[in-house]
Amino acid sequence: MPQTMQALVKYPRQGLSLEEVPRPRPGPNEVSIKVDRTGICGTDLHIWDWDAWARATLPVPMVIGHEFVGVITELGQNVTEYHVGEVASGEGHIVCGHCRNCRAGRYHLCEHTMGLGVDRPGAFAEYVVIPKQNVWVHHPGIDPDVMAIFDPYGNATHTALSYDLLGEDVLITGAGPIGAMACAICRYAGARHVVITDVNPYRLALAADLGATRTVDVTETSLAQVMGELGMAEGFDVGLEMSGSPAALEDMLENLRNGGNIALLGIPSTEVPVDWKQVIFKGLNLLGIYGRKMYETWYKMSAMLEGGLDISGVITHRLPYTDFEKGFEVMAAGRCGKVILQWSDAIAAQGDPQP
Ligand code: NAD
Ligand code: ZN
Repeated sequence: MPQTMQALVKYPRQGLSLEEVPRPRPGPNEVSIKVDRTGICGTDLHIWDWDAWARATLPVPMVIGHEFVGVITELGQNVTEYHVGEVASGEGHIVCGHCRNCRAGRYHLCEHTMGLGVDRPGAFAEYVVIPKQNVWVHHPGIDPDVMAIFDPYGNATHTALSYDLLGEDVLITGAGPIGAMACAICRYAGARHVVITDVNPYRLALAADLGATRTVDVTETSLAQVMGELGMAEGFDVGLEMSGSPAALEDMLENLRNGGNIALLGIPSTEVPVDWKQVIFKGLNLLGIYGRKMYETWYKMSAMLEGGLDISGVITHRLPYTDFEKGFEVMAAGRCGKVILQWSDAIAAQGDPQP
C-alpha cells in the first residue's frame, strides 16, 4: 500500500490545495477506509471561504471533508467487528463516550463532539481513518452516490423524523440539498402537504422533483396565500427550519398552528431576533437538531431506502476529485443539489454486492 496519498488540504487562506500527504494509519481502535467518493457540504464551503467560523474553528493545515463512502482496507488491532472489503461510510461526529449523555446512549448530544474534516483529518483524500464506533457498513443494493451523502441525508432524516408526520401539514424553510431531501422523507413518512420555501428558483425546482407538494418563492408569494389555496385554516402542524435565515424563522413562527412542532437545523450566521410571543401564546415546541442520532438515524436511512424512498435526485453534479474547484464553484453559486467528487473505483473493484 502506498505511504502517501492525494488529499485536499486547508491552509489559512481562501480555497483548498490538492497535495500529496502521508497516508494515515489506523490506531488500535480505528479503521482505514479507501475513499471511493465524497460529497461537498455547506460546511466545506465555509472552510473554503475561510470565513469567521472557519478561522475560529479549524486547526490548519487540515485535510477536510466528512461526507464519504469507501471500502475498508485496514483494521486496528482491536477491531473485530468489521472486515477488510466492506463498503462503509462513517458518522462524522466523533463523541467522547464518557460524558453524561454518551453514557446514557445519547451520543448525538455529546458534550465533547469532534468533527471529522474539521477537528481531525477528513475524507477529501484517498484514505480516511475513523474510530471503529463511527463505521457504518452499508446495506447491499444502495446507490454508491447515495451512500456518499448519508451524512446530510442523516441531517434531513433526524430533523424530519423528530415529530409525527402522518397526515400532517409540513412547512420546510430552505430548499438546499437538506431541505430537498426532507421533502422526500416527509412524503414517505405520510405527511399530507409538504410546502417548501426558498428564494432560489433552481432550488425550488429540485425540491419539487424530490416530492414537495407545493414550492413557494417567498420573494413572490406569501405563506398565508398558499395556506388559503390549500384550504388550511389553522396553520402548519410541523415546521422544519433548514435555511438558517432569520426571515424564514419569523415566517415559520407566524404560520404554525397553536401547539405546532418546530425542528431547527439551519445555522444562522448572525444573531436572530425571535418574537417569543409567538412561541409562548401559540404553545409551540422548538427542538434544536445537531447531526444525526447514533445510530438509529443511520438505521432508518437504510431502511427507508430499502422500503422505496428515492433521494438520488438531489445529486446534480459528479466530478473527478481533480475538478474540485468546479464543484466548489457551483456550490457557491447555489445552482446545484449535492456535488459528488470521485476519488477511486474502490467499490466497483469489489464486484457486485452480496444479494
Ligand atoms: P444550503 O445553504 O445549501 O441551503 C439553504 C437554503 O436556504 C438555500 O437554498 C437558500 O437559498 C435558502 N434560503 C435563504 N434565505 C431563505 C429564506 N428567507 N426563506 C427560505 N429559504 C431561504 O444548506 P444545506 O446544505 O441544505 O443545509 C441546510 C441548513 O442546515 C444550513 O443552514 C446548514 O448550515 C445547516 N446544517 C446544520 C446541521 C446541523 O447539524 N444542525 C448540519 C448540516 C447543515
Ligand atoms: Zn460525550
